[in-house]
Amino acid sequence: MSSQGKVRVRFAPSPTGYLHVGGARTALYNYLFAKHHGGTFILRIEDTDLERSTEESMRMQIGDLVWLGLNWDEGPDPVTLTDRGPHGPYRQSQRKHIYLEHANRLLEKGLAYYDFRTDEELEKLKEDAAKAGKAHHHLERPSPMIPLEEARRRLANGEKAAIRFMIKEKRDFVLNDLIRGEVTFPSDMVGDFVILRSNGMPVYNFCCVVDDALMEITHVLRAEEHLSNTVRQMMLYEAFGYQQPLFGHMSIILGSDRQKLSKRHGATSCHEYMMRGYLPEALSNFVALLGWSSPQGQEILSRQEMMEQFDGERLNPAPAVFDEQKLAWVNATHLRALPSEELWARVAPHLASHGITLVDDPDWRERALSLFKSRMTTLADAVALFQPLSDSAYAVGEEAKEVLSWPETPKVWEAWETALAAHGADYLTEADFGALQDQVKVAAGVKGKHLFMPIRVAVIGKPSGAELKELVPLLPKSSLIKRVQTARRGYSHPLSEAALPKKEPGVLRD
Ligand code: GLU
Repeated sequence: MSSQGKVRVRFAPSPTGYLHVGGARTALYNYLFAKHHGGTFILRIEDTDLERSTEESMRMQIGDLVWLGLNWDEGPDPVTLTDRGPHGPYRQSQRKHIYLEHANRLLEKGLAYYDFRTDEELEKLKEDAAKAGKAHHHLERPSPMIPLEEARRRLANGEKAAIRFMIKEKRDFVLNDLIRGEVTFPSDMVGDFVILRSNGMPVYNFCCVVDDALMEITHVLRAEEHLSNTVRQMMLYEAFGYQQPLFGHMSIILGSDRQKLSKRHGATSCHEYMMRGYLPEALSNFVALLGWSSPQGQEILSRQEMMEQFDGERLNPAPAVFDEQKLAWVNATHLRALPSEELWARVAPHLASHGITLVDDPDWRERALSLFKSRMTTLADAVALFQPLSDSAYAVGEEAKEVLSWPETPKVWEAWETALAAHGADYLTEADFGALQDQVKVAAGVKGKHLFMPIRVAVIGKPSGAELKELVPLLPKSSLIKRVQTARRGYSHPLSEAALPKKEPGVLRD
């Protein structure tokens, strides 16, 4: 993709909810393109739709972009929201005076006119046009046309009017799209279109052109759904005499059923993926490949590699399929490649949100992660893996009922506690664990499942689940003792019931 002069690109979200994965892709491509060419990446907030845009959504989207690491060079500051950069304001709601001034320019040049027709009148005209087999954009111009001076007088008297762009000459427009090649927009595709509504709000196509021109945008990489808007934008560039940027309309994103990706397909917002334990570098790696491919054929790319390789070529116009399984694989691959301390820092909030507290020791974390990370696809998977290691989560559950009813169980627990107390080190190795089980077998005179199951319950609170020979070496001896003591205190075998304080049936907690 050619990039003579300094590249200036923008991401221009409408703040109406969390950032969609499609929006993340648009932001990423623009960011990568800017970084690759040593250009400038701008964030512009398109918040003129007052009913749908909220400050909360803007903050959410900004938060998602920061999470993805897509830092912008110009735009609202992510914390204070104040403008950073020489082309502000960067929020369209604060640029109304600029749009008004531009609308006036077109009015003065006779390239736009005030339209006093009411919604009802326009509705009627559209119906008539439809009946006559014409599309509604073939609305007749008001007749007679009201001279500008008179229109201004009527406005001063409190009347309302929209401003419409006047299409002077019907002709085809040809776009040389960076991704799609030549696209021809036929002359009758659009009629005179509104640029400023009668309530004073400017419309998207108009703001977009004014802003892209004033912000000196050189390349517009955006969603395919904007392709049909481009003809109106081309007309406006021409009317203002502004230099048109180069446009590239990206591929549409489909779900696995090849329908347009939507909520029906499951998670579609970056926020949901973050909550589900996806890594920002993995999500951006994955979305980068929805419509682009690495020249080296790489599927797993670091941010640096993407920046080096993303020159704007190899963008594919064909629909891209959002394959959840591939995302999971990309995530697992990035996750497993993280150094342990880094992985721990990412896992910790997920564990904390489930009240899981663990041994605070880097060596221990290293051991635990090297065991578990090959079983983790997302950070959230750590919860189930680490839960059995958290003392605060230890409880003898309902599933242990049968084991609790065996007369051998208290004997096994007593011998297990004694053997642990006599063990010299703070942790048991896998071999120590085998040896201790043998000791318990002899001391309690119990073998087979009547030996192993009670030990299991004394370690994890239930008779099935995680591999004990892996877990036991990760549990400090003190913790193993505390657990068996908890189990023994809560033991409610009918024979010993009378001797023990009454407990709630079911879950017994330390
Ligand atoms: N605000 C528009 C959107 O969110 C931006 C379109 C454009 O990039 O021109 O789709």
